[in-house]
Amino acid sequence: MSSNRYKVLVIEDEPKIRSFVKTVLETNDYKMIPADTYAMGTTMFMSHTPDIVILDLGLPDADGIDFISFVRKTSAVPIIVLSARTGEQDKVSALDMGANDYITKPFGTAELLARIRAALRNSRFGKLPEAALIGKFVLHDMTIDYDKRTVYIKGVDANLTQTEYNIISLLSEHTGKVLTYTSIIKAVWGYPDTGSTKKLQVNMANIRKKLGIKPGDNKYIINELGVGYRMCDQNE
Ligand code: CA
Repeated sequence: MSSNRYKVLVIEDEPKIRSFVKTVLETNDYKMIPADTYAMGTTMFMSHTPDIVILDLGLPDADGIDFISFVRKTSAVPIIVLSARTGEQDKVSALDMGANDYITKPFGTAELLARIRAALRNSRFGKLPEAALIGKFVLHDMTIDYDKRTVYIKGVDANLTQTEYNIISLLSEHTGKVLTYTSIIKAVWGYPDTGSTKKLQVNMANIRKKLGIKPGDNKYIINELGVGYRMCDQNE
């Protein structure tokens, strides 16, 4: 049993948060590897090869973003960032640098465990190359048929435009991961310009309408305000 436990590297300089996370992880059968600085985090990362990393962005000896770029040179291990409530720009930078998800402080036990489970589940499949987007993706009442490039709600064609389809198939390819506005714009249009965030929001409003999502509802797609969009995980 013990050798099969997921190893979670937690890089956080606040002792209170570290001990809270340790309690949550260990009572749920994860093995926690603690680190309180960037330097110790990189050492522990190389010696323990964790299954997932939980990373505070404000570390005493470096920016947490530096740790993400260090890891991403060699590894696709899921990284969940811990960020302050006002740190929208930090979250965006971390996600664009390759973090998988973020949790806003203060956070509770259920949220922490749900995010870890989602990140581990989705990372097992890895990132599929675009050519591998074949077959069907099903989430609740929605089916994306990658071969027909068509989205159905309860079996009825939702009549998405090509751009709307491109956005939703991109989100489905990264289910459970927040994609920032910039990363979606780059993937769909190839380049960002002054009007592109607005263009994305207009497309997203049309997608939500066509999928029958009521205003303020988080069905299928979650709007992470000021950061980006995320397709729901199957269990949400
Ligand atoms: Ca800190």
